[in-house]
Amino acid sequence: MADEKTRKIQELMHQQEKIRNIAIAAHIDHGKTTFSDNLLAGAGMISKELAGKQLALDFHEDEATRGITIDSASVSMVHKLDEEYLINLIDTPGHVDFSGEVTRAMRAADGCIVLVDAVEGVMPQTETVLRQALKELVKPVLFLNKVDRLIREVKLTPQEMEKRFISVINHVNELISNIAPEGYKEKWKVTVSEGSVSFGSAFHNWALSFQYMKSKGITFKDVIDAYQNDKVKELAKKAPLHEIVLEMVIKHHPNPVQAQKYRIPKIWHGELDSEIGKSLINCDADGEPVFVPTKIVVDRHAGEVAAGRLFSGTMKQGDDVYMNLAKRNVRIQQVSVYRGAHRMVVDEVSAGNIVGVVGLKDVFTGETVSKKPMEPFEAIKHLFEPVVTKSIEATKAADLPRLVEILKQIRKEDPSIKIEIDEQTGESLMSGMGELHLEIIENRIKSEKGLPVKTSPPIIVYRETVSRESPSAEGRSPNKHNSFYMRVEPLENDVYEAIKSGELREGRVKKKNEVIFNVLSGLGWSGDMIRDVKNIYKGNIFLDETRGEVHIGEVMEMVLDAFEMVMNQGPLAREPCMKLKVSLDDTRLHEDAIHRGPAQVYPAVREGILEAMRKAGSYLLEPLQIHVIEIPDKFLGAVTKLVGSKRGQMLEVKQEGTQAEVKTKLPVAEMIGWSNDLRSATEGRGTSSLLDQLFEKVPASIQADVIRKIRRRKGLSENQ
Ligand code: GDP
Repeated sequence: MADEKTRKIQELMHQQEKIRNIAIAAHIDHGKTTFSDNLLAGAGMISKELAGKQLALDFHEDEATRGITIDSASVSMVHKLDEEYLINLIDTPGHVDFSGEVTRAMRAADGCIVLVDAVEGVMPQTETVLRQALKELVKPVLFLNKVDRLIREVKLTPQEMEKRFISVINHVNELISNIAPEGYKEKWKVTVSEGSVSFGSAFHNWALSFQYMKSKGITFKDVIDAYQNDKVKELAKKAPLHEIVLEMVIKHHPNPVQAQKYRIPKIWHGELDSEIGKSLINCDADGEPVFVPTKIVVDRHAGEVAAGRLFSGTMKQGDDVYMNLAKRNVRIQQVSVYRGAHRMVVDEVSAGNIVGVVGLKDVFTGETVSKKPMEPFEAIKHLFEPVVTKSIEATKAADLPRLVEILKQIRKEDPSIKIEIDEQTGESLMSGMGELHLEIIENRIKSEKGLPVKTSPPIIVYRETVSRESPSAEGRSPNKHNSFYMRVEPLENDVYEAIKSGELREGRVKKKNEVIFNVLSGLGWSGDMIRDVKNIYKGNIFLDETRGEVHIGEVMEMVLDAFEMVMNQGPLAREPCMKLKVSLDDTRLHEDAIHRGPAQVYPAVREGILEAMRKAGSYLLEPLQIHVIEIPDKFLGAVTKLVGSKRGQMLEVKQEGTQAEVKTKLPVAEMIGWSNDLRSATEGRGTSSLLDQLFEKVPASIQADVIRKIRRRKGLSENQ
């Protein structure tokens, strides 16, 4: 890669009118990877021989086989039309969207290429991704791929080919006019006459637009001839894919300054007249810096790299910035842009670009990073507690080290997946937000990494809590010399919410903590009580209410260990506890430290808390999910029935054109096989995405049965 290119990219990133930020909307297997590689190769960003085989966008594959650091979050290329342009192509996941990743990727783009396999036509995922794009006011153009198959496999005549194209174009336009917001339904239709449609073969590296055919005197018949007379290479020389496609992008997609004028009011709900509002609308490089990460990639050298869109201002190494959702200050360690698929560290990045930022510790996608606190871009999106667990192991024992490697990587890249690795037995546990979530991970391991794995049926993780305050319960140590008097009660809802939202940070409390003091006194706790808080753990709080006990400091860490043990395994079914306030009322301790070691303290405290919970009416909570199901409206009846059959509840139904959106609440325990059930109920046209997750009391009629089953599975006695 010539240094000339590097210099060019650095120059162009400051010329906003020369930038295009784009994404690809495609159904899986329609050729997105092959297509992107050919664009990159055409623009001289990877070698031509390797294009199509190199899979530059496929970070995992590439990293494994070539051992270099490639960042899949975004790729950039320079293309010369009348002048040179910088095109940033942001990666979108190639699987069913589960966590809003597509939406967030789309947020960074202003234009998208809808890529459709000409043989298969528009498929459900084409529709879903296009929908996400239009919601974010990302402007579409159309590319019909795999035209070679129409010629070689389907053997269409020139007339039939034209007819086929028109039918796909009409289908895409029907979707656009159904889905696009008012004002864009007509304006954003793709048309042959204006050149926002092109077609070709990513595999054979050629493409055509109707204008190009006219200007070069190429006909459909010529294309068919090329295949019949072994002249495909010539065709690819005459009409190289990247030239046609990148010209379409440059001409039809907006530059960031044009796009932010209409996109900002749609995707940011702050005061548009404020200084920061104006800076965003104008994509002002001299304004306030505002960065929205859309993908986090773990880089072997730099660690966590947040890739995303710099909507305004400039950012550089050493800048102190504020993460508005996490409510934390951090310092930027590195800023970068992309050169081909490589991340290139630069001195400074400026508004309107897709950039990489290092130093935003523990950042999540969708965060809004700015200099001063501001209205964030996206409503806070919790990372949900994992509620479904599956064991996973390599089919072949020899693959174990690779599986462990892959699982470690996944754990870093998808913070919503929890993984417990057992490097000895090879059986690891992965826990996620739902069965579908784990299925996606499993498929990624199988297809993307080519590693055969076996998984167990999914297990639902419940929670335990109490309904009322208990009396003080004594827990005695095995040597009978120590007693701990424990009391439990339900934790107030607003306190629990403050923990869940991160306002109250979890962890042991060593000294006076101002944040905890402010939050809890704001919620009505007395100063005395707040001073007693010793631990905030998994949505539970521990209070030390003993007074004047001389040895308490010596045993407190052990008491807290034991508290955490019970919070991980409650009395009913050894499921984790939540929403508990646990108090240590009093103690009786042996004078001599030797008689109050862990072997004495642990069982005593554990027994005290468990006993208190039993006396406080403990019960089981089950996870439920709020899902938004999108379907063509004719399947509304079928979906209503399906939801009903799963103890689910319909919360809201919205209709728009021929499309319906259903909000439902479903117990996770009943969602096993959900994606298959939804598929069969909707002929594959329904998609469902997770909106929220909550816990509710298991219906009384089934609680005993659920507890019995869990205890049996864990090999516990039937009696609690
Ligand atoms: P993705 O899942 O959308 O990223 O698709 P890939 O780029 O991995 O392509 C899926 C399959 O389609 C691969 O086997 C490609 O070789 C093949 N493919 C991609 N483009 C074309 C094309 O233009 N013609 C034909 N015949 N096959 C193609």
